[in-house]
Amino acid sequence: MLNSRSSFSAAVTCAAAAKSAAPVPVPLPRNNPLKNTEQENQQTSKPASVLFSEQKLPSFGRAMAIGYYPRGCLQGGVELPTTGPTWQVMRLSRNRNWGHPELVKFIERFAPLAAKATGRKGILIGDMAQPRGGPLPFGHKSHQTGLDVDMWFMPMPDRVLSKEERENIKPSNLVAADGKHVNDEIWSAADVTFIRTAAEQPEVERVLVNAAIKKELCRAEGNNDRSWMSKVRPWYGHDDHVHVRLKCPADSPNCEAQPAVPGGDGCDKSLDHWFAD
Ligand SMILES: [Zn+2]
Repeated sequence: MLNSRSSFSAAVTCAAAAKSAAPVPVPLPRNNPLKNTEQENQQTSKPASVLFSEQKLPSFGRAMAIGYYPRGCLQGGVELPTTGPTWQVMRLSRNRNWGHPELVKFIERFAPLAAKATGRKGILIGDMAQPRGGPLPFGHKSHQTGLDVDMWFMPMPDRVLSKEERENIKPSNLVAADGKHVNDEIWSAADVTFIRTAAEQPEVERVLVNAAIKKELCRAEGNNDRSWMSKVRPWYGHDDHVHVRLKCPADSPNCEAQPAVPGGDGCDKSLDHWFAD
């Protein structure tokens, strides 16, 4: 059973987080006057990231991604099963395998697709969102609206990992020590296929990878059709996982869309600055 008091605090924190993004007020539970909650919020000095991470279950109400990817929250979140035919969730202790139903649906559809395309057994899933989304106490700025998922480059093994293994296995880093190239010993064509398969899905807004990986994609694809690469953008970290972000779902009027990617394949000057000293 959800604790109605803390559930309401979280809803209000979420409303505050989404305020600048959302012109429409976030629906609030009935029978809970706003006044009381403001008083409650003033009584607690906990930061929003702690309040959100303390929530072990989603909030009631129809599913809705609220606010902006790095400044928002999630109503009516659903849980991705921790073990599927072609995926396994890692770091179970974080309780971050929650998302908007569209994200869960996407992973369930994408995992077998990617397994088939790459010839691998499946995908190891890293962080999604907390049950109610919101800011996270460590690890990410985004992942707040239930539309972001991290997927490891390390392929899923052909067996079910134990809880301990999911906690302790270190993901393999695909970027070389110089930060400018991929690690040739573990980088393979299947990694290109994996990223490409993600970028080709229509509900995907962005695919974030380390700049060295983006550079390698530009090189490897050479004269091939590189239009799919426009969604693949460089970002800090992302050397052991790919970050997939979905577009705002139709059921979420308070979800703020990310500005469209600039045209082109991104294999241009905008990439060079990542390698400037
Ligand atoms: Zn991420």
